[in-house]
Amino acid sequence: MNNPYVNDNTILYWNGNYENAKNANINLYSQSLHYGYAVFEGIRSYNVNGKAKAFKLKEHFDRLVYSCKTIHIPFAYTYAQFEEIVYETLSKNNLIEAYIRPLVVCSPNMGLTKGLASYMMVQVWDWTGGYISNNIEIMTSSYERPNPKGFHIKAKVAGHYVNSIMASQEAKDKGFNEGMLLDENGNVAEASGANIFFEKDGALYTPPEGYILPGITRATCFEIAKSLGITVVEKFFNPEEMEGTDAAFFCGTAAEVVAITSLNKIPFSKNWETTNCAKIQKAYSNLVREKNEELEKLTA
Ligand code: PMP
Repeated sequence: MNNPYVNDNTILYWNGNYENAKNANINLYSQSLHYGYAVFEGIRSYNVNGKAKAFKLKEHFDRLVYSCKTIHIPFAYTYAQFEEIVYETLSKNNLIEAYIRPLVVCSPNMGLTKGLASYMMVQVWDWTGGYISNNIEIMTSSYERPNPKGFHIKAKVAGHYVNSIMASQEAKDKGFNEGMLLDENGNVAEASGANIFFEKDGALYTPPEGYILPGITRATCFEIAKSLGITVVEKFFNPEEMEGTDAAFFCGTAAEVVAITSLNKIPFSKNWETTNCAKIQKAYSNLVREKNEELEKLTA
């Protein structure tokens, strides 16, 4: 089967060892495989002065720990160990600009009981190409985000992503780039794998925590907006309030900040280049690549 993430020499970290991806395997009785009971992270490393630098690695580690704890998967790595494994895996694959995917899976157990033992995998793959396009057209999804009374919505749990796959594929089948999911009250929540902001009269609006995965990129956009003097308001709003406003973007580690051109075929009205959204997009791009000294302070 075609696997675009590996070649003959790809090395991954798997439960204490660095292995060739071709030889690595997972127990087919793992609770994770049967029930989606696993947690993961999505991290990017950038070329900073010729070396790989993983953006906000500590924040991603903290979320991984939080996710494990919240759904009762044991996890024993320290940040120092995790950091070493991430950079070692990158180095063994000669990668600088990469996507880094830690995944924590559980031991064989067909019971619906908490994780008995867990194993961490760290995969890395090249991320120099533009995988996600800018200027996207989105639609309101018919799929709602999971109810936070049924799922730990702030944890990055593998099983939650069935919901994301449904929403994303529905949008693609209908000729859009992505879907925008609502919460159970009909308010905008987020995209399948990104948070969402829109702009009106210079201020940015984004849904508060509750029905979203509070992204590390979203938090970074708050920091950037503050440093640029742009107001950000966290509030619930429905798609009609968002349609036809000045501008909007999705944000997430993989995609960075992506301009949205229309929602439900209704275009956002301002020329992107003149918006505060565009300023955030540019500043984020500079920040992760450490190209802007002033914004660098934010990550110190
Ligand atoms: N929401 C969902 C559902 C996601 O999968 C992601 C990607 N991790 C995000 C938001 C954005 O999170 P982050 O900025 O931490 O990548």
